[in-house]
Amino acid sequence: MARVQLDDLRKVYPNGHVAVAGATFEVGDGERLVLVGPSGCGKSTLLRMIAGLEEISSGTLRIGERVVNDVAPKDRDIAMVFQSYALYPHMSVAENLAFGLRLRGLPKPAVAERVAEAARTLGLDALLERKPGQLSGGQRQRVALGRALVRQPQAFLLDEPLSNLDAKLRAGMRVEIARLHQRLGTTMVYVTHDQIEAMTLGQRIVVMKDGQVQQIDTPMALYERPANLFVAGFLGSPAMNLLRGRLQRDGGWTLELADGARLPLPAEARFDAGWHGRELHVGVRPEHLLRAGEGEAEGFDAVVDVVEPVGSEVFVNLRVGTHALVARLAPGDVPAAGSTLRLRAAPAQLHAFDLADESALMRE
Ligand code: ADP
Repeated sequence: MARVQLDDLRKVYPNGHVAVAGATFEVGDGERLVLVGPSGCGKSTLLRMIAGLEEISSGTLRIGERVVNDVAPKDRDIAMVFQSYALYPHMSVAENLAFGLRLRGLPKPAVAERVAEAARTLGLDALLERKPGQLSGGQRQRVALGRALVRQPQAFLLDEPLSNLDAKLRAGMRVEIARLHQRLGTTMVYVTHDQIEAMTLGQRIVVMKDGQVQQIDTPMALYERPANLFVAGFLGSPAMNLLRGRLQRDGGWTLELADGARLPLPAEARFDAGWHGRELHVGVRPEHLLRAGEGEAEGFDAVVDVVEPVGSEVFVNLRVGTHALVARLAPGDVPAAGSTLRLRAAPAQLHAFDLADESALMRE
């Protein structure tokens, strides 16, 4: 096991495209860290630099105590799992698992022992004689994991390993990977564009956008204290409601929206008195829009557009003037489309972001 340290790691592709613009962070020994961001943000490039599959343009990469910038992938003592399982179609599962080890010249009994152990761990015992073509997608992905497992590497690098699976299998495999990690305790770096996967699998998450690291923290810290507008909007489903407007202090607070609509906000909101008259973004998560009593001063009326009951809760898509909002209501609370709801925002749960640099605003 080992920690992985990135110090100002940059990748400029030969065509001049800056895919990673200076990433600095550490993956702790035994930590399960997720890199997440929209497609094209540079997360695969970063992972591939750690793996040694992509040349590092500048910066320093350490695995354990060793600088590995110029160390060949096979000598980095890491194992990578890809979205495309990359199994050898003509070999059985057992042969697929054993192949890499044989290539490294590991003695036969040791190979057999490791293959048997990986098969046991991943529930592949009954499938060892099958060819990849005779396996389901989930089983194939399990074999791909097994091939990494038998290597007993210092770190696992996984690049969108579950993207080819359907939603139900993905949820199941997510738990399997977490369980596997808990059992092995091996350092793991996991790349995904899926924020749910990131939230459920990451002990810490690195959020990226346009080659830049936006924020690094635990899932709940990112959710509760996003550092900027991008992170606020990216993590969470349904996404945080974000409204641009001018804040007015008038006893309580009011947000004046572009279309002239005025949204009363709680007097106890954690806004700074100095923000009176300031144009900014206000954010509120769907679960922090609460039903308000008729005529409640700090409430506002919203028209129900579309209702999505998902069983455990109800997502209510609303309109305030020309603005769309989503509220997350209790399972029994299914308002009729076209009806008007009186809502209020939970005061301690409002976010504010600067108009220019989009960073989270803190009260002075
Ligand atoms: P992600 O994994 O977040 O989807 P990638 O790391 O694959 O993103 O790519 C980051 C950016 O670098 C993208 O804009 C992509 O188009 C670009 N890119 C990837 N590979 C190359 C390459 N070989 N040459 C030039 N640009 C590349």
